[in-house]
Amino acid sequence: MKAMVWRNKTGLGIEEIPKPEAGPGRVLIKAAACGICGSDLFLYKNRVLTDGCILGHEIAGVVESVGEGVSGVAAGDRVLVRPCGCGQCKHCARGNENICSQRRSIGFGAVPGGFADYLCVEPDQCLPVPPGLGLDQAALTDQLSTGLHALKLVRFEPGQSALALGAGPIGLCVIIMLKHMGAAAIGVTEMLPERKALAERFGAHAVFDPAQPKLNASLAQLFGPDGPDALFECSGTAPATQQAIAMAPRGASIALVGMCSASVSIIPMSLFQRQIAIIGSFGNTQAECIECMDLMASGGIPSRELITKRIALDQVPAEFELQLTSKTDIKVQTQMFEE
Ligand SMILES: [Zn+2]
Ligand SMILES: [Zn+2]
Repeated sequence: MKAMVWRNKTGLGIEEIPKPEAGPGRVLIKAAACGICGSDLFLYKNRVLTDGCILGHEIAGVVESVGEGVSGVAAGDRVLVRPCGCGQCKHCARGNENICSQRRSIGFGAVPGGFADYLCVEPDQCLPVPPGLGLDQAALTDQLSTGLHALKLVRFEPGQSALALGAGPIGLCVIIMLKHMGAAAIGVTEMLPERKALAERFGAHAVFDPAQPKLNASLAQLFGPDGPDALFECSGTAPATQQAIAMAPRGASIALVGMCSASVSIIPMSLFQRQIAIIGSFGNTQAECIECMDLMASGGIPSRELITKRIALDQVPAEFELQLTSKTDIKVQTQMFEE
């Protein structure tokens, strides 16, 4: 079978490798769609990949075969493939398996991912895709659920207001979920014209240039004197994170949804006086993925509109390079076969 393999010497390339077999307790998946995620690009850009690894974690496919002792998943099942927790620790018991220390991820190094014809996973890494939901849509679940997760972490409620910093792929998912949840006002800061337009298309009431003079006055026009209830940092940059901390009004929560590895400075007294909560929002949970798939299936949130490009597996290495600088795509997915 074909797979996109990372080599320390030569980078990403398509290789012919042996097709895996579903051993005891394992499930063989025929990949239908796999999305290129910002976290894939983060690993690729920073060259923190191990030789021989196969990326791809936004995967949906069809079960080809199951190994001995597998129950609950059968050949022919349409499934979303996603990480799972140990099922034993306190985080798993609370449904927060996304922060389980034994979380078993797919496509980040240890376990080969979805940029391949086939992949082998565990039964509890498979979630059934509801009837009526395409596998291409199902492969969007990770991204959309990441937006949903952030809203849940700040306990966002209908009628509240929010500011999203950054309208890249993750920012758009936050905007989509805010609209779905009935936010009274959705503001967005974004510099790029293409992304400003996307933010408006998916539900932003107003989009601001983060560097514009009198930004605070413009925000006050949208949110009123008390400001937004929640801020979602989705750009993964230090300046935007710093800006979120500086502009958060009294009593607001800030969810850090973007991946920012640079440092920002915090004056604890200023958080203390404004009673600001800052929370890291890591990925999403299984329950949120199920909720998200049901939402897509019922048409409650947009889905296929997010897929801006469908490519063959052969095109993925070049696409990774392209996506490092492209600012117009929302989701690029492989299309391995048509359902
Ligand atoms: Zn992802
Ligand atoms: Zn656990």
